[in-house]
Amino acid sequence: MKKPNIVILGAGYGGMITATRLTKQIGHDANITLVNKHDYHYQTTWLHEPAAGTLSPERTRMPINSVLDLNKIKFVKDEVQEIKREEKKVVLSNGELEYDYLVVGLGSEAETFGVPGVHEHAFSKWTVNGAREVKEHIEYMFAKYNNSPEKKDELLTVIVAGAGFTGIEFIGELSERVPELCAHYDIPREKVKLYVIEAAPTALPGFDPELVEYAMNLLESRGVEFKINCPIKEVTETGVSLANGDEIKASTIVWATGVRGSSIIEKSGFEAMRGRVKVEPDLRAPGHEDIFIIGDCALLINEEINRPYPPTAQIAMQMAEVCASNIKSLMTGGSLKTFTPDIKGTVASLGGKEAIGVVGSRKLFGTSANFMKKMIDNRYLFLLGGPGLVLKRGKNPM
Ligand SMILES: Cc1cc2nc3c(=O)[nH]c(=O)nc-3n(C[C@H](O)[C@H](O)[C@H](O)COP(=O)(O)OP(=O)(O)OC[C@H]3O[C@@H](n4cnc5c(N)ncnc54)[C@H](O)[C@@H]3O)c2cc1C
Repeated sequence: MKKPNIVILGAGYGGMITATRLTKQIGHDANITLVNKHDYHYQTTWLHEPAAGTLSPERTRMPINSVLDLNKIKFVKDEVQEIKREEKKVVLSNGELEYDYLVVGLGSEAETFGVPGVHEHAFSKWTVNGAREVKEHIEYMFAKYNNSPEKKDELLTVIVAGAGFTGIEFIGELSERVPELCAHYDIPREKVKLYVIEAAPTALPGFDPELVEYAMNLLESRGVEFKINCPIKEVTETGVSLANGDEIKASTIVWATGVRGSSIIEKSGFEAMRGRVKVEPDLRAPGHEDIFIIGDCALLINEEINRPYPPTAQIAMQMAEVCASNIKSLMTGGSLKTFTPDIKGTVASLGGKEAIGVVGSRKLFGTSANFMKKMIDNRYLFLLGGPGLVLKRGKNPM
């Protein structure tokens, strides 16, 4: 009998966990192929650190062949261009792949909400290369300041658009690093301006108000200025224009206002909301018995509040476990599982030894939250590659 072809698109949290679980559960009973545009896997949830320059980008990535057993899975380094659903084919930049079962885990792209100038003038790519670019750019602006006769203030002004999880984690790291940057480039600290601009009426929407207050007070004590309830109208070459008519000049604008699913989803004709497919309870795309959509490309409604769950690594990993088990059931005639997220908590780092979060029903602040954040980062490595990977690549929680 012909072995089925299982193709996994994207080696992020969802794709990597699906790949490891399928190779364990199905082994040689199927031809499993993983496609990714790089030959490394990166932990997106760590990227605010290399972007601010507080961690080497090397620490956030690992070669795919160092984690997966390539005797059991074929890895193809290529870029997905389109999924031809009727033909059961995936079009890559350098070829095509046929599938019997497809797993789409291509992650997300920046949501601009139609604000002009974001792609041209802001940094919006939360990838290893995107993080490198932000870090190098900020350092170059600091170096340029003392070397230009006008000493323009905007060279030392950083605007973060969005006070959600990503924006707060990034400004937390950067505000912690500013004293070191100032010392290194001979810049008076008061010259550096850090803004976080948010359209919603609060920072960290959805977080406990006491934790939000803790985070804002801490960041303000490090010199961060918040502009809340303050939509950005346009991003320009010289800064941002706000809906209230004000303009802020800045040489660095980091876009972190949320994400939409990979553009491959809409390009391939899936019905989607902001690039995310509202998946069936077993994680298949509606009308497609052979296509699973996981991670940031999937839309899942939280029935308790009738709103989508925010896209997180936590959910992507849990989806991957169910997706692998359901593919095995399709192959062996078992019954398919329904996916229900098990939200264990959320912890946001604030730079240095500071963080905030909720784990179970417990609120955590400061060093205890920071400890928990590092344990969460290490837990992912454990789930992916066992204790060996934690020892090799994990974070010291102290
Ligand atoms: C700074 C930051 C901090 C975060 N912190 C947290 C946190 O603390 N907790 C949490 O739960 N979530 C957090 N998130 C969200 C989390 O990172 C995402 O929800 C998660 O990465 C989604 O996993 P995924 O598998 O869907 O996609 P990803 O992990 O983004 O992986 C997608 C993969 O697909 C590849 N790819 C994309 N397009 C193509 C293509 N066309 N062809 C081939 N390959 C392609 C990419 O290179 C990547 O390897 C954070 C996000 C950011 C940016």
